[in-house]
Amino acid sequence: MQSAHPSVLAVTGPHDTDGVMRAVHAHLPKPHDPFVDLIPEIGIKLTPRHYAYLKISEGCNHRCTFCIIPSMRGDLVSRPIGEVMQEAENLVRAGVKELLVISQDTSAYGVDVKYRTGFWNGKPLKTRMKELCDALGSLGVWVRLHYVYPYPSVDDVIPLMASGKILPYLDIPFQHASPRILKLMKRPAAAEKVLARVRAWRAACPALTIRSTFIAGFPGETEEEFEMLLGFLKEAQLDRVGCFAYSPVDGAKANELPDAVPEEVREERRKRFMQVQAGISSAKLKSKIGTTQKVILDAPGIGRSAADAPEIDGLVYFDKSHKLKAGSFVDVRIERADEHDLHGRLA
Ligand code: SF4
Repeated sequence: MQSAHPSVLAVTGPHDTDGVMRAVHAHLPKPHDPFVDLIPEIGIKLTPRHYAYLKISEGCNHRCTFCIIPSMRGDLVSRPIGEVMQEAENLVRAGVKELLVISQDTSAYGVDVKYRTGFWNGKPLKTRMKELCDALGSLGVWVRLHYVYPYPSVDDVIPLMASGKILPYLDIPFQHASPRILKLMKRPAAAEKVLARVRAWRAACPALTIRSTFIAGFPGETEEEFEMLLGFLKEAQLDRVGCFAYSPVDGAKANELPDAVPEEVREERRKRFMQVQAGISSAKLKSKIGTTQKVILDAPGIGRSAADAPEIDGLVYFDKSHKLKAGSFVDVRIERADEHDLHGRLA
């Protein structure tokens, strides 16, 4: 088009407002606005320069009985995919090396807009988790998924993890394993299916790290149901796990359920749960001794592997004798593991 019509300055796709504005401003500088011109293009970021949270939606269509988020934030509202991708691109251009995708329910992205087709750089793109991950994976940085609800659509992103397009990391809160408790929580209630899916994900992507959270002492939870949860934990061999003793949040439906578990029992179950998991996590970390891990540097001698999200997972410690900047990628030969972290030296 431009070779036939040299006076055409740019060609964009339909509805690509950002693309049009970029083309306009490439030829006509933006008018000076003293209030906004000092703000960097990526906005004000509270995280270190090399990683950033990317919020893709607000609100949630689920009604888990222990949670009041839907009553505060309303139903799911997905951000337009073009806008999300533009923000991601701006962040990467500004030096971000790791994008952490967040929402209340990442797997539901686009459900509210019926997976509407949006546009990024003039190209059509469906508002859906898989397409979003695929597009984010093309930016050449680490992409990590958080708060993925355990729905079958998760299966679609596993091949992207297996092929290295996005990090083989799933933060997927299972909350419990007893079908009756899951039903009382209003969560998907089929632990055997979850176990089968975890096995299938690992078969398709052996490097997969699974982080999850659980609640111990939910109203009505019997000792037998709690032990079922421990059994699930031993079977599932999850990599990173958090467990909360049930805490009655004001306004949550679960507070109306009968047979509340006494506070000391809730706490005691949480501790037992974490003891079981400590053994699993430390065996998982030990299995990495002797391997070489790609690590993103957070500070001199401290980084994170693909299995470690900032602030919630472990760290990789190695020799500080380098002049690398935060956000650099290095290979670290793992020599030692403790309960949470790995230790090694630059490979
Ligand atoms: S726990 Fe998560 S999925 Fe459930 S209602 Fe709250 S925000 Fe939604």
